[in-house]
Amino acid sequence: MAPVVRRIPTDKPYVFLTIDDGEIKDPAAVELAKRGWPTLFLNEKYFKDDAAYFTSLNAPVEDHTVDHPNLRGKPYEFQREEICDDADAEQRAFGVRPTLFRPPFGNYDDNTRRAAAACGLKAVVLWDETINNGAMQFQVGHHLRPGDIVLMHFRKTFTEDYQAFLDQVKADGLTPARLPDFLS
Ligand SMILES: [Zn+2]
Repeated sequence: MAPVVRRIPTDKPYVFLTIDDGEIKDPAAVELAKRGWPTLFLNEKYFKDDAAYFTSLNAPVEDHTVDHPNLRGKPYEFQREEICDDADAEQRAFGVRPTLFRPPFGNYDDNTRRAAAACGLKAVVLWDETINNGAMQFQVGHHLRPGDIVLMHFRKTFTEDYQAFLDQVKADGLTPARLPDFLS
């Protein structure tokens, strides 16, 4: 079974931004994303018609299922297809096979972990903080900590959400780093 990862054990001041789904393709994201080392967890339904947009972000592309279903409680074979087919599609579209999996809504069970491993993925990645409507939302306290994984989405508020991340990182004296480099 693939291990479930919620944060990265590190004594360095690193934080990890992840950007999910891919529904809204804001051109402003191209310049912003280049500066912050985000990792993209994309659904095939959102990248299949415009893979070039995500290629232009020059960021690691990871697995998030084909159609974004809630996987928890679903049969193993259903989960395996959703996960493996997205990995295959990303390999075709971007030339690199993903190594990480994020379950839609953060919902998973043992079949999810088995299916992710069967699809060649090394970890099921969750998160601690989210960014919505240009504001950080913390599960614990009011600051980012070293090793935190932050979640935002490709939404209309991309610029505001991304700026909220950069402001918080600066306020807390941290540095964005590339998530896959810490989960190989
Ligand atoms: Zn999602």
